[in-house]
Amino acid sequence: MREKIRDIVRAIEDVAPKDRKVKIMNVCGSHEHTITYYGLRSLIPKNIELVPGPGCPVCVCSESDVINAINLSKRDDTILCTYGDMLRVPTRIGSIRSNGGNYKMVSAPHEVLKIAEENPDKKIVFFSIGFETTTAPTAALLEMGVPENFYLLTSQKLTPEIMEVLVKDSEVGVDAFIAPGHVSAIVGSNAWRVFPEEFGIPTVVAGFEPENLLLAVLRILIQIREGKSDLENVYRGVVRPEGNRRAQELMYKYFEKADVNWRGIGNIPKSGLELRPEYSYLNAKVAFELPEIKEKKIPGCICDRVVLGKAYPSDCKLFKRSCTPRNPKGPCMVSLEGACNIWYRFGGNE
Ligand code: SF4
Repeated sequence: MREKIRDIVRAIEDVAPKDRKVKIMNVCGSHEHTITYYGLRSLIPKNIELVPGPGCPVCVCSESDVINAINLSKRDDTILCTYGDMLRVPTRIGSIRSNGGNYKMVSAPHEVLKIAEENPDKKIVFFSIGFETTTAPTAALLEMGVPENFYLLTSQKLTPEIMEVLVKDSEVGVDAFIAPGHVSAIVGSNAWRVFPEEFGIPTVVAGFEPENLLLAVLRILIQIREGKSDLENVYRGVVRPEGNRRAQELMYKYFEKADVNWRGIGNIPKSGLELRPEYSYLNAKVAFELPEIKEKKIPGCICDRVVLGKAYPSDCKLFKRSCTPRNPKGPCMVSLEGACNIWYRFGGNE
């Protein structure tokens, strides 16, 4: 593997432009983990920037959704179920865990069914967050059938839609995308075609091994040298052009596109998924009449800029000082997929 990496790095040095910066954004926490853990930034020329984007689902979950989840967990008649990372996400009123209500951690949606069966006298709310990779299993759960005491609090986001926001934001100045491998397995590589074809942004789907990510960087730089913008896929063993049709069918059977709030970013039209009206009896927002709460910025936290690739975690004054994984001030320090958490553990650009 080392030999292969050396060859790719040499090829990158050969093709990389010498007279300009190239900003290549990844939109996947696992990509950022590989890049940082293996120190890939230190292997390539300094003018080739590998920037983390909005790839961490916990980081972009709106404060309003988290506060609503906290308030549900404080009800005597309710048990809130969600993924472990969500329990520690800070808001102006603390986190789900620090509020000490009725909550249970799950690692997969089907675990919620067991909790619902064991607690027939309680309302069980599954706080379902994430990108397409978590929406598909949630839709599969609904397809299996859920008990009467089951409700869904959704905070599901769509990846292509946020990437479109990024390319239209001149401050981000993204030159190319490394498209996320796991999401691509669901939505298909064709979902990213719009970026090279409409916006002239070279886009390469990559897997999670260091050589695969470096290969994606090489393919991007070759495109740039040749003045092209194409869609390429270097994760062919897993990602097909059309993606997983069955997963897509299930997702859109139960969910429809909706205007949703992204933490630190605001409302983006049609950038998320909500339950279709015919399933509103499952919708916790409807059943519990949950309000949309205006976001309050965490003083000093620049997660909004980190998520949009406008700043690095180390640009934040709180990074490694008052903000650490044990005591996260902002959402990007909570999850193992958050850029601040990854940079704290493995060093980032330093
Ligand atoms: Fe927010 Fe902490 Fe990251 Fe700063 S280091 S941006 S406070 S999560």
